[in-house]
Amino acid sequence: MKNIFVVVVTKRTLLSLLLGASFLVLLVVAAGRAIPALAPPHPALVGKIITVDPGHGGIDPGSHDSKGILEKDIVLEIAKNLCYLLAKARAVPILTRHGDWEMSPIRPEESTRHRQDLAARIHIAHSTNSDAFVSIHVNKIGSSSTSGAIVFYSKSKPESRHLAICIERTIRNVAPFRGQSVLEGDYYVLNAARLPAVIIEVGFISNPKEKELLLTPSYQGRLAEAIFSGLVAFFESA
Ligand SMILES: [Zn+2]
Repeated sequence: MKNIFVVVVTKRTLLSLLLGASFLVLLVVAAGRAIPALAPPHPALVGKIITVDPGHGGIDPGSHDSKGILEKDIVLEIAKNLCYLLAKARAVPILTRHGDWEMSPIRPEESTRHRQDLAARIHIAHSTNSDAFVSIHVNKIGSSSTSGAIVFYSKSKPESRHLAICIERTIRNVAPFRGQSVLEGDYYVLNAARLPAVIIEVGFISNPKEKELLLTPSYQGRLAEAIFSGLVAFFESA
C-alpha cells in the first residue's frame, strides 16, 4: 500500500519551505512518515544536519534472539521516529538507511564487507557536512539480568563525550532500567568521525523485560524523543 504525504503550507512557513523544506520533505518521506503540518522550529536545531544511523541491516541482523527478534528492525523504527522529530524541529536529518539493507556498496574500496558497511555510514555524515552523528543499536549479553542504555564516545574527542553525556541524561528520564552509563568505546565509526559522534545502545534484548519494552512502538517513540532532547541539550550548550 502506498502512503500519501501531505504538507500544509502557511505564509509563515513559506520562506523556510523555499529555503530547503523540499529537501526536508524528501527526508521525512524517506523515513516513512509525513509531516501533517509544520511545527514551530526549535532554535537550537534549525539547520543542524544530523546523521541518524540505524545500525546493521541487510544480511547483518545485529543482535537477535531465538524467536527472530532482530536488532536491525528495532533500531530502524527508533531512527525513523527520531528523524521525524528532527524534521519537525527544522533540523535536517540524514537517515543512513530507511529500509532493510546494508551500506557496504557505498564504500567498496574498504577491505571487508563489514568495514565497507561501517565506512559508508560515517562517509555519509562527512559528505553531508553533518553537525552530529548518532548510531542507534541494541545490546545483547549472556546475562539476562543486565539492563540499561549505554552511550559510547571515542576517547580524546571531548565534543563526542559531551554529546554522549547529554543523550544519556535524557534517556535516563525515560528508561526504567538500571545500568545506564556513558563509556569510552574503541569503535571504528567513532574513531573515524570528524564530528561529534556517539553509538547509543538503547537497551539489552537479552533482558526479557527490556526486550519486551524495546519491541513496543510507544517505548521506541519515547527513546527517540529522549535522543532528540539530548541533541537539543547538546546544541544549546555547544
Ligand atoms: Zn549493533
